[in-house]
Formats: sequence, C-alpha cells, structure tokens
Amino acid sequence: MEKSVGNIVKRKLFKMEDLELMEHSGVNRALRRTSWWLVLLAIILSIIGVVGTSVLNKKIFIHDLVNYVFFQSLYVIVIQIITEVLCKRFKKWADYIGILGLFTIMNVYIMFNPNVKGFHFILFLVIILSTLYFQYKKVYFSSGLCLASIVFFSLFYKPTSYNLMMSDLLACVGTYIACTFISIAVIRRGKFLLKHLEKSHKNQQELLVRNILMDRESKIEPLTDLYNHKTFHEYLEGLIEQSDSNQLPLQLALIDIDNFKQVNDQYGHWVGDIILKRVSNQLKVHITPNDFASRYGGEEFAVIFTEKSIHEAYELIEHFRKSVSSIIHEELNNKPVTVSIGMSSYTKGRGKECFFRETDECLYKAKNNGKNQTVLANTGA
Ligand code: GH3
Ligand code: MG
Ligand code: MG
Repeated sequence: MEKSVGNIVKRKLFKMEDLELMEHSGVNRALRRTSWWLVLLAIILSIIGVVGTSVLNKKIFIHDLVNYVFFQSLYVIVIQIITEVLCKRFKKWADYIGILGLFTIMNVYIMFNPNVKGFHFILFLVIILSTLYFQYKKVYFSSGLCLASIVFFSLFYKPTSYNLMMSDLLACVGTYIACTFISIAVIRRGKFLLKHLEKSHKNQQELLVRNILMDRESKIEPLTDLYNHKTFHEYLEGLIEQSDSNQLPLQLALIDIDNFKQVNDQYGHWVGDIILKRVSNQLKVHITPNDFASRYGGEEFAVIFTEKSIHEAYELIEHFRKSVSSIIHEELNNKPVTVSIGMSSYTKGRGKECFFRETDECLYKAKNNGKNQTVLANTGA
C-alpha cells in the first residue's frame, strides 16, 4: 500500500552529480567539434586567401595552394585525428589532450602564416574554449601554454621572430593575461550561481520530502498505519463516481472487532492497542494492492475492494476473518479475538449513502446473528 518516502524522492529528483558527469564528457565533445569547425573554417579562409592573392599567376597560385592550403590542412587534420585517438585511449586525460590538440593546431596556423600581422592573437581562443570546463586549473594550463608559445615565436622561431616586435609581444602577453582574468571571472561567477542553484535544489528536495510526509500524515492513521476515516470517504466517493461511469466492480466491507470493550476493561487499553495493530496487519496481508483498507474509527475498519467479483472479495474477507479468529494472543491469556463483517457490492447509480447503509446493516446482522461471521447483502450468506 505504501511506498517508501526515500524511493519516491529518489525517483522524483534529478541528480546534480549525474548532470555534472554528463556535462564533463559533453564539454570534451563540444571542444573537439569546435576544433573540427575551426579546421574547416581555416581551410575555406586559406582557399579564399590564396585565390584572392595569387590566382592570376598560375605558378605562385599552385605553390600557395600546396603550401597554405594542402599541407597546412593536412597537418591540422592529422593533429586533430591524433587528438581524437588519444582522447579515447586516455580518457582520464581527455580534457588536457583536447586543449593541447587545439593549441597545437593554432600553432600550426601561426607557423604557416608568419607574415600575417597579429595572427598570434588567435591563441586566446584556446583560453576561451578551456573556460568551458569550468575549472581554474584548465584555464591556467591553456594560459601557460599560450604564454610559452608567444615567447617561443618571438625569440626562437625565426620566421615569426623576424616580424614580432617587442610591442607585439607585450600586446599578445597582455591579451592572454586579460583573457585569463576574464575566464577566471566567468568561472567564479558560474560557480557562485551553481552554488545557489544547488542550495535551492536542496531546499526543493527537503520541501518535497516534507510534502510527502505531510501528505502521508494527513491520510494515514498512526496506530494501525491504515488510511484514516476522511481518506476512506474521499476514496469511496471517487470510486463510486468511476463505478457509475465505467462499471468498475466495487465492494465494501465493514469490520468490527467483537467484544472489544471487554478486552480493554479486562486487560487494559495498551493490550487493546496491540490487538488493534495485529488485526490491522492481518487485514493488510489479506487484501490485494487494488484494495483500500482504512481504520473507520475505534475498533472498526472499512475495506473497499476493486476489480473483483463479489465472490472473490467475499473469499478474501472470509479468509481474513478466519485467520483473525485463529490467532491466539499471549496478552489475552492465549485467547483469540473475533471480528464481525458486513459486506455488499455496489450497483450502478445507488450512491454512497445507500451503499454504506446497506453494508452497515449487514454488519449489524452479523453482530445479532452471534458475531464472528460475515453477512453478505442480498445473498443471506
Ligand atoms: P461489539 O462486539 O458489539 O462490537 O462490542 P464491543 O465491545 O466491541 O463494542 P463497543 O462499541 O461497546 O466498544 C468498543 C470499544 O473500543 C470501546 C473503546 O474503548 C474501544 N476503543 C476504541 N478505540 C480504541 C483504541 O484506539 N484503543 C483501544 N485500546 N480501545 C479503543
Ligand atoms: Mg464498534
Ligand atoms: Mg466491536
């Protein structure tokens, strides 16, 4: 009848850790996809560049096409493929390999285009893209790579060092550092928002648990752990509506423990409570998940049977009655208790009051006929 609150909550809530894990591999994929787009863009731009500058001179055109388009593209595609393979092979280091791959591709472009002014600035793309990981260390890593690269190009790589002046070097260094600061600020802001999101998510979880508990508390009777009087009536009304419109088979059983006052008077209320719990437990094990058992009040219970014939419902309730009378209770000097039951089946259009009254009359008959029996409406059972 009841599902554990923990399970319900677990199922209902989306997990933050899952989201983070998904995000991480997602960033790797996004980075590699971006790299491929950048490669494609570079191929298109280099073709346009070569066509635009040397199409009139066939010899230079072919030379430029081979050098600036073919070899340059070949190198970056090979690097990109190696990066993909290494990322798959060393999954743990895939983030750093991805950044390194992108960085190497950018360096190839710089090497192939030493005369393009300000081209070294493209390295800042590596810093920007590493921000996607949302980790400071990856931004510092890419930033360190960029600074090392610009120092290399200005001091040790002749084709570029020839063109790079001190002011260019400082401008590049300044840009990379500024990019690093911006990335760090973006991550810090993101982390701040994430923390707030997590906090509100946690609050939401707590609220959900509290709501479930409150909902349960408002419906369940604490001593017997069965549904309470109010919920029984709500449920019965709903089921009668369904039965009226969809011919849903519906039976009602009213159960009353026999001579319960004597139990209290003779053995005390605390023993009475133990007996109430035992009878309720018996009821729970004898009904099916489609049925609805409630503590109607005092030592009275009501059960609604659904999707059964009257004979099936009668069988179940009789089984319950017999099992109750077969249990001997140590607290009652090894004596059993018995129950009397009235039962009836709903017929379309009869309404709740009439249905309930008829069942109650059956219970009354069961009591008058000597107790410890089930009286079924209209059958004389
Ligand atoms: P009958 O066979 O005609 O049903 O007789 P009975 O004694 O069972 O019925 P009666 O209505 O005279 O007494 C019901 C008793 O149930 C009286 C009341 O003290 C007791 N009772 C009601 N609720 C509780 C409860 O929560 N705990 C305990 N221990 N007793 C309860
Ligand atoms: Mg009673
Ligand atoms: Mg009674």
